[in-house]
Amino acid sequence: MFTDSPQKIGTDHLARDAFLYVRQSSLRQVMENTESTQRQYGLRERAVALGWPRERIHVIDSDLGRSGAKADHRDGFQYLVTEVALGHAGIVLGLEVSRLARNNADWHRLIELAALSHTLILDEDGIYDPAHFNDRLLLGLKGTMSEAELHVLNARLQGGIRNKARRGELELALPIGLVYDAEGVVALEPDRQIQGSVRLLFETFREGGSATSVVKRFAQEGLLFPRRIRRGVGKGEVLWGPLNHSRVLQILHNPRYAGAFVYGRTRSGRTAELRPTTLKVPRESWEVLIPDAHVGYLTWEEYERNQTTLKQNATGFGSIARGSTPREGVALLQGRVVCGRCGARMRVRYQQVAGRLEPYYQCAEAAVRRAAALCQSIRGQAIDEAISALLLETVAPAALEVALAVQEEIAARIAQAEELRQAQLERARYEAELARRRYLAVDPANRLVADALEADWNDKLRHLDALEREHEHQRQADQGLLSEEARQQILGLAKDFRRVWNDPATVPLERKRMVALLIEDATLIKEQDIRIHVRFRGGRTTSLTVNRPQSMALVRKTRSEVVEALDRLLETHTDREAAVALNERGYRNWQGQSFTPKKVSLVRRTYGLKSRFERLRARGLLTGEEMAHRLGVSTTTVHTLGRTGLLPRHLYGSPVRCLYEPIDPTLFLKGKGGRRPRPPALITVPSSAQETV
Ligand SMILES: [Zn+2]
Repeated sequence: MFTDSPQKIGTDHLARDAFLYVRQSSLRQVMENTESTQRQYGLRERAVALGWPRERIHVIDSDLGRSGAKADHRDGFQYLVTEVALGHAGIVLGLEVSRLARNNADWHRLIELAALSHTLILDEDGIYDPAHFNDRLLLGLKGTMSEAELHVLNARLQGGIRNKARRGELELALPIGLVYDAEGVVALEPDRQIQGSVRLLFETFREGGSATSVVKRFAQEGLLFPRRIRRGVGKGEVLWGPLNHSRVLQILHNPRYAGAFVYGRTRSGRTAELRPTTLKVPRESWEVLIPDAHVGYLTWEEYERNQTTLKQNATGFGSIARGSTPREGVALLQGRVVCGRCGARMRVRYQQVAGRLEPYYQCAEAAVRRAAALCQSIRGQAIDEAISALLLETVAPAALEVALAVQEEIAARIAQAEELRQAQLERARYEAELARRRYLAVDPANRLVADALEADWNDKLRHLDALEREHEHQRQADQGLLSEEARQQILGLAKDFRRVWNDPATVPLERKRMVALLIEDATLIKEQDIRIHVRFRGGRTTSLTVNRPQSMALVRKTRSEVVEALDRLLETHTDREAAVALNERGYRNWQGQSFTPKKVSLVRRTYGLKSRFERLRARGLLTGEEMAHRLGVSTTTVHTLGRTGLLPRHLYGSPVRCLYEPIDPTLFLKGKGGRRPRPPALITVPSSAQETV
């Protein structure tokens, strides 16, 4: 179809302005050369030829975001759409008109508007009148084609990257500790200090099993960790700073340290506010993963193990991973206790008892998840003791080897830290020397520069001095650890696992590490006794039974003389009176506090002492109700008789309570017609009840 028909141009078109749209997308410019710009401006000549005066042809440069005629800062395409909608445009010119818009929707909107306002569209192929169906169809197709072309272009570009990535040849930014050598092959960082720091990080994780242990060690030993500036000022330089937790995790999670080539660990997405963001891609969806693609700091197997460890360490709310990392605290079985009732993992809770923390193994799974009652809670001490005994008898012969290995490990660690610190020192010396040379090289007359350089030199010297002193200090501390005395101590202890285990200097964490090496888990069931099923690493199992621990009141032992004194006092005193009497005599409870009625009652019940009431009852005294029942009168009558002295009774305590002496009802003659009982002359009190207290 011949579209370049001048017949399409009417006088009403010519009466309006022409708009030349020049679009310079960077993607296009990559593909084409600047020639296209010339072609775009060449269209202006076409418009002139078709009858538009030169001064009424407006050039809209979308990159500049303003029209050629007006210095307007609106977006070029927006401006064009507005002009078309307002009917100011007689014709729109563009090199490939479909590329006017950024996307197909914009393009179709422009066609619609152009049809409504009878605006023509012109490109190198011809003139279109969007009001005509055929032309509109053609323009729509052109838009679709151009979008498809962009897509293909993009895919080709991405595809190139992906293909390269699939072969493991794509050069991606490397993490610290790895570099590209001259041939573009991944190599270990040649800088010994950087390489050593990265190695130390992985080794410490191997020993400590947690990112926190790595951070702690670097902090304790005053070691810094390198970071390479990726962009901006000082790009490529290495900065040294304290190591933090997230950095350790980042490094441990990075598969490149294991020598694997990976592509597609992250992808870009958008947040709810449509801001661009980077999303993590789960491991099974990584586009490319080539293990053993280059050198690394650890094996792929170890990398996988580390991932599992890290996953287990991430103990979130309500979930306790199997055999999680040993932490501070004395509970031996922390992280490896299973509830024998419901199968959930039990937690450790500590409770303050007599000034020290007592561990409790608790199954709080139901309590936490469903707000139900605590499944079971067991005092840890007896269980830990049983486990200790079990370990002592099971593994004692292996102890020597363990202790020697520990000794060797300490020595190795110290040597390693020493080496790194030496490197740190060397760097500081080099920097100081560099500053000195810079200072000497400058013309002394150039005061401004010379002063700054001198200050820099002084600064470096101060830094070096501080570092040297710190180094010396650390070295001496390390020597202490490795002193002959300490060695002898360790070797001596090694002869006896029992002593190593029981030595107060062995911190709970170390004991727990030993437990972690030996025991997979222990299942606890609290019944009449506490049963412990121990599963050793390697599958062997053993069952133990431990007596249920005594109640806390017994544990919190009251001195026996206090208990005896209380026993005597209770013959004549109520709890309240006994508390006063005990305090007067200077007795105190197990916590060194004075007694209250409540505390007396607690001690009394704990030691099975009878209360004043129980003692009186044991002597046969009756309550008002019992007396009333025996005499066949109302309780009120009994109390009235008691008050008037007709019924012998025993008063005690405050508020005052009373118990009645048991009398023989036959002796108590009841008056006829419910009258009051006969006078006391007829009442005889049995001799047994007469002895008063
Ligand atoms: Zn449970």
